Amino acid sequence: MRKIIQIGNKMLRETAKDISLKDIKTVKIQKIIQDMKEALVKEADGVGLAAPQIGKSLRIFVISGKALKEKDKEEKVSEDLVFINPAITKQSRKKELMDEGCLSIRGRYGKVTRSSQVTIRAYDENGKRFERGASSLLAQIFQHEVDHLDGILFTDKAEVSKEISKDEWNHRKEIINEQ
Ligand code: ZN
Repeated sequence: MRKIIQIGNKMLRETAKDISLKDIKTVKIQKIIQDMKEALVKEADGVGLAAPQIGKSLRIFVISGKALKEKDKEEKVSEDLVFINPAITKQSRKKELMDEGCLSIRGRYGKVTRSSQVTIRAYDENGKRFERGASSLLAQIFQHEVDHLDGILFTDKAEVSKEISKDEWNHRKEIINEQ
C-alpha cells in the first residue's frame, strides 16, 4: 500500500514532469495510476489525489468517482477519472472563496479563492485526449490538483487556515458530500 506523503516532504514542492504519450500505456505508468486509485479509495474524505502525493513527480491526478456523482442523477458512483498532463485552458473571472483541505495536510483546513468555472484538457489512462468543463466543487478540485503538479499546496493560497479536530473535519466533509 502506498502512503500519502505529508507536507514537509520536498517531493510535494517539485514541478512534476509531463508523461510522454507513448508511455501512458506502459506497465510502469498504469501501475502508478492503479496505486493512486487504491490510495484514494482508502480515504473516506478524499476526492482527488495527485501523483506527487504518492511520491511520483509526474503530471497525473485522479478524481474519485464520489466527487463526480453529483453530475449523474443516479445513485451509483461514477468511475474514478484519470487526468494526465492536464492543463486548465479556461477559467472564469468569477471567483469564490471555498473551504478546502488536502490529504497531504491532514488536520488543516482553509479558505481559498478559486475560479467558479474551469475547462481542463488532459489525456486519460488510455492516452485519449479529452476536455471537460466543471463548476463549483469539481472546478475547485481541478485547480487544487493542478496546483499539486506545480508544487503548490492550498495553504500557500489560503486566506485563513487553521487546525481542526478530526471530528470537525469529518463534519465539514459531510457537508461537502451533501452538496
Ligand atoms: Zn491536495
